Order: sequence, then C-alpha cells, then structure tokens
Amino acid sequence: MEGAGCAICGNNADSKPFLQAWLVGFRFQYRRCNSCGLVFLNPRPGVQEIGQFYDEEYYGGGRQKFRDWIETLRLYFARRRASRMKRFFPGGGRALDLGCGQGTFLELLRKEGWEVQGTERSPDSACRARLSGLPVSVGEVQRGQFPDHSLDLVTLWQVIEHLYDPAVLMRRIHPMLRNGGMVAISTPNIESLQARVFREKWFHLDPPRHLYLFSPQTLERLMNREGFRLVALNHLSWEQNPYGWLQSFLNRMGSANGSLYAYLKNLPPSRDPKGSVSGKNLLLAAGLLPFCFLLPLILERSGGGGTFEAYFGKET
Ligand SMILES: [Zn+2]
Repeated sequence: MEGAGCAICGNNADSKPFLQAWLVGFRFQYRRCNSCGLVFLNPRPGVQEIGQFYDEEYYGGGRQKFRDWIETLRLYFARRRASRMKRFFPGGGRALDLGCGQGTFLELLRKEGWEVQGTERSPDSACRARLSGLPVSVGEVQRGQFPDHSLDLVTLWQVIEHLYDPAVLMRRIHPMLRNGGMVAISTPNIESLQARVFREKWFHLDPPRHLYLFSPQTLERLMNREGFRLVALNHLSWEQNPYGWLQSFLNRMGSANGSLYAYLKNLPPSRDPKGSVSGKNLLLAAGLLPFCFLLPLILERSGGGGTFEAYFGKET
C-alpha cells in the first residue's frame, strides 16, 4: 500500500476522512481534499499490487465480459455513444479510446468512418481487440506516443477513476489534440443522490479499483488546470444509472456486495457464482427494476446522476 494525495492540488496533508469500505478483509478509506473537494483513496495499492484486484473475474473469462443478453444491451448503448460523437464531429476524424477493453466502442466508431486507436491495461483484452484489426497498445498512453495535433477526440469511458495520475495523463494528451479537439469522459459522481444515499454500499464506489471519485465540479477543476474547458455535461445515463440504483439497493439489503453484477458476468463455469444469487434476490431485483428506471427520470434529469458524461474542449 502507498500514500496518495489530491490529484488536483497535489497535497495529502490537507484532507479529511470521507468514508470507508471493506472488501475481502481489506479496509479501504477515501479522503476528501479540503481545498478542492476531490475524493481519493488513501492509502491505496501500489502499481505493483493493483493487478491482484483486476483478476479474470473483473474482465470476464472469455471472449465477452457479460452474459449474452447483457452484451446485446451493452452493444446498443455503445452504438448510441458512438453516434453521440457526431454532435461534435459530424464528419468523424481521428479518435483515441483510453482503456478501450476489447475495442467495442472503437469498432463502432470505425464503422462510422473514424480513424481509430486504443490503449488498454489488460494484455488479453488488447489482444482480442487486435484480432478485430484494431490498433491497440498495452498500458497507459506515453508522452509523444501520438504526434502533436494528430487527434480530434480522446475518450475515457469509466476509466479516469482508475488512473494513478489523471492530471499527468491529461498533460500528455493535450499536445496530441488538434485545436478544436475534445476529451469525452464518463465517470461515477460522488456528489450524486445514489452516492449520498448508499455511501459505502454504493455500487460505483468499487474500492480499491476506483482511486478517485469525481463530481462534475472536481473533474472540471482538474481539466481547467490542464488546459481544457467544459463544453457539455450529461447526467441522464440509461447505460449506467438504473443499474447503479439496483445493485446499490441490493447491497444495502444485505445481498453480497455486487452479487447481481457477478451473476450477470460471463464467467467460466468453475467461477460461476450463479448459486450465490438466491431466487429471493432475483425476485427482489425484478421488483425494484421499474423504480430504478423511474428514479433517474425523476431525480437525475436535471443533474446529480449516479454517473455523468462530460465533454471538454482543448484551450489553445
Ligand atoms: Zn485538492
């Protein structure tokens, strides 16, 4: 374990305990920066230790991460996300997806005429993306990896909260974007109603993989410091938010943390937790489901969604 500071202010002395959560016998504590409000995990596993928390179960054991019908839904949402990029770039361009997984989003962008590149932490996932002919490198993007002014769009879908130093990454990306280029980020919202109601039981807390928990304000603060300005913000995510409510309700009601999520994953038969999700819990999930769609519609439409999607333009 190592000490961590605020990714925006660079300090770790001026912060107070925010909340703590237990996971397989480990206690994890999040702290909140007194200066800027950013929530960060401290202490946190070091770069050499974090790998054990991204095991086979995290990525899914096979070709796909989730069960078939969930993958169909994921594809539908990824397609909608890809077509949202048209709003900013009607004619496409050159895109880089950081943490691209098996390349689903990149493949959809490519079909829409984009030139695409990706980076991915898991060598197995990167390998599967390459099998589809996608140029994907393993590890974080390096300084000078792409020529200056060569990219129109950089995307980080549920990725920035996993990074050790998001500010340094943004500093590397900034010169690679052409003038008028954009960074699109989706991430859990620690100021959301979901986060406030469920606290340590909130599905999107996900320690110790989530090293930082942003709000629209703290993310904008970080991006402003690195030379980006907010262009658009979207709180109503059908891809993330109904499920966030559902799993958090189940966590709070005493179902094993993330059990439904584990059930929905496509794990090898030996690791299949099907038996651990009781019929009672599945019935409960079915009963809660309509509310989990209603709540975002009523409460998150105008702000405060469990996750948010933010678009930043490069300042020159
Ligand atoms: Zn700070």
